[in-house]
Amino acid sequence: MIPRSMRLALSAALLGGGVAVVVAQQDMSKVEIKTEQLSDDLWVLYGAGGNIGVCSGPDGMLLIDDQYPQLSEKILAAAKTAHDAPLRWVINTHWHGDHVGGNENMATAGATIIAQERVRERMMEGQDNKFFGRKIDPAPAKALPVITFNDTTELHVNGEDAIAFHVPPAHTDGDVVVWFPKSNVVHMGDTYFSSTYPIIDRESGGSIDGLITTSERVLARINDQTKVIPGHGKVSDKAGLQGYHDMLVGVRGAIAKLAKQKKTLEQAQAAKPTAPWDDVWGKGFMKPDTFVQIVFGELSAKK
Ligand SMILES: [Zn+2]
Repeated sequence: MIPRSMRLALSAALLGGGVAVVVAQQDMSKVEIKTEQLSDDLWVLYGAGGNIGVCSGPDGMLLIDDQYPQLSEKILAAAKTAHDAPLRWVINTHWHGDHVGGNENMATAGATIIAQERVRERMMEGQDNKFFGRKIDPAPAKALPVITFNDTTELHVNGEDAIAFHVPPAHTDGDVVVWFPKSNVVHMGDTYFSSTYPIIDRESGGSIDGLITTSERVLARINDQTKVIPGHGKVSDKAGLQGYHDMLVGVRGAIAKLAKQKKTLEQAQAAKPTAPWDDVWGKGFMKPDTFVQIVFGELSAKK
C-alpha cells in the first residue's frame, strides 16, 4: 500500500505532469495566433498559454502578457496585423511562464516590461513548486520587469487610461487586473478562468479568498457591456464573471464546512463538495478532486 504522503506527492506529480504534457506535446510551430477585436484600439490574442491583451494606436503597442518565447514572432505579427505600431510596453498579469515567457524577446523587440513587484521578485528567485511538480529557474535579467509597482499604476496611451491594479493574493501574490474604462474592457489574468475551475498556486501565495475578493472588486467596476478577458478561455462578460464568483463562494462554503468538521482530504474529496458546479466548471483541465485538494488544503490550514 502506498503511504498517504506518497500518494499525495504522486497525485501532485501527475497533475504537474498533466500540465507539463499539454505544453510539451503542443508543437509551438503549429500554434496559430487567433485575433479578436474588442474595441477601436483593443484586441485579444489567443495562442498557447495565457490570453494576450493588445492596446495599439498612435503612441505604440502595449501587450498584456506574452505567452511562450517560441511564439513571440507570431504574436508580434498577429498584433501588427491588427494595428501596425512599434512595440513599447508589456504588462505582466503575474509571474507564470505561460504569461511572461516571451518577456526576453519582447524586451529585445523594444518593450519596457512592467509588473507588480512580486512578479519581479519571484522571477528572480525561481521556484521548486512541489504541488504542480514544476521547477522554474531564475529568469535572465533581460526577461525581468524594469518598472515595478506595489498597488497600482496607469499607462495613459492611445487615448486610453490603462489602470493596472494589484489585488489581494488570488491566483498568486503578484496578480494585477488591467482595466480600460474608455473601451470598457478588463483583462483579469489568471484571477479568472472563464470555463474551468481556477488554478490557485498556493506556493506562489495564491488563495481562494483573494480570488473571490478580486472578482467582487471587478464586478463592482463593470457593467453589462464590459468585455472581460480571462487568463484562459474565451472572452466573457459581467454575467460570466458573476457565475464564476458565485461558484467560488459556493465551493468555498461547502469545503469550509468539511474542514471545520476536521475531515481528512480523502473524506473531503469523497463528499464531492463541488458536485453542483462540476457540469459547468469541472470539465476543463482543473479536475474537481484537484480543486478540492487545493481549497481544502488552504481552508484546513487556516483553522
Ligand atoms: Zn497563471
